[in-house]
Amino acid sequence: MAILRLLAAAWLFLSLSFAYGAGPVVVAKADRQLWQGAVNTPDSFDKASRAAVLVYVSSLQDSRQLTDSDMLAAFKIKSLNRAYIKQWIDQELTLALHNYQAAGKSCVDEDWTCAGTITTADDLVKQARAWQKKIPSALSPWQQNFTTFTRVYIAEQLRLAALFPKVSSEIGRFNGNEWNGDSFADRQFLLTFDDGPSNPQGNTDDVLAMLAANNKTAVFFVLGENLQNRLHKANAKTIAALYKHQCLALHGWEHQSHAKWANWQASVKRTKSLVLTTFAPQDPDATGSFLPLFRPPYGQRKSDSGDFFKAQGLQVALWNLDSQDWNSQVDSNDMANRLLALMLVKRRGVLLFHDVHPKAKTALPLIFEGLGTAVIWRDCHQL
Ligand SMILES: [Zn+2]
Repeated sequence: MAILRLLAAAWLFLSLSFAYGAGPVVVAKADRQLWQGAVNTPDSFDKASRAAVLVYVSSLQDSRQLTDSDMLAAFKIKSLNRAYIKQWIDQELTLALHNYQAAGKSCVDEDWTCAGTITTADDLVKQARAWQKKIPSALSPWQQNFTTFTRVYIAEQLRLAALFPKVSSEIGRFNGNEWNGDSFADRQFLLTFDDGPSNPQGNTDDVLAMLAANNKTAVFFVLGENLQNRLHKANAKTIAALYKHQCLALHGWEHQSHAKWANWQASVKRTKSLVLTTFAPQDPDATGSFLPLFRPPYGQRKSDSGDFFKAQGLQVALWNLDSQDWNSQVDSNDMANRLLALMLVKRRGVLLFHDVHPKAKTALPLIFEGLGTAVIWRDCHQL
């Protein structure tokens, strides 16, 4: 057992080094073809989700073996919050338990992904360990790929947890006025896009056309300065109409972390005022709708910012499914694979994209098609 643990720790450390070693950061990549099955109905999604959750649980448990020095070296940071790392792993195991139970409702006899009634996270870990020996040999390539995927993904998250709350991010919440999608109902997802609008006829226009063609809505967290640039080139009515059926929210005036920015409050207020003026309710079917949400650039906001956002009538909207669309090492197909894999593991949440980048408009139609009727895409107007 001790040797197994050492091996697990060594392998996870390799994943960490892989993710955060010399050279550019490598993100978690999965290959959806290796599963050899569809995920486009609730039942087929549940089966793939049970398998994905069990692999994730094993990788989470392995990550407990990492020492502080492993992580300090791999993440290249000077100190880490061990208590929060433990809290995050415990939280993820609890979510995994709920997810496995939800996915188990569609279990039928003789299904190798089903394990009967599991009521505690400890039982789920035991089951995940025992189950590794039961995976059909034809799915060994999937198991290997998904194990590596979950390890690298967990390494991404552990780095955020290690730094929290000194460096804030989507990994943790400071108060009940902040949300990240973990509390959505099972199999419900929301699309969100940050940093726009682009220049006219740019990526924002393409994303809007793609969403309209696929009959989907999203929340666009706009940057004040980008919206103002766009307003210099077209009047407010035209821009409001461009976002028809979609939702608008705030990302601040400039793309700056609030960590060391004296003017962050003015940035939020100024953007709110411009968005409210531009998207003032006219005919709600003909324009975008304002939602009182703020998303901090990089997810970084001050730990004591709760009172300000409440006074502004704004909720802080984070995310739990990062597409990594800004990353030059991730192409559209990688993005679709990554998100499909994470959606099987997390079973709910907020997908983060950037409409100033071109990848979402290619990746999302693949995801919509791959998931078919398996999930519910939330209407941004009903948040
Ligand atoms: Zn941003």
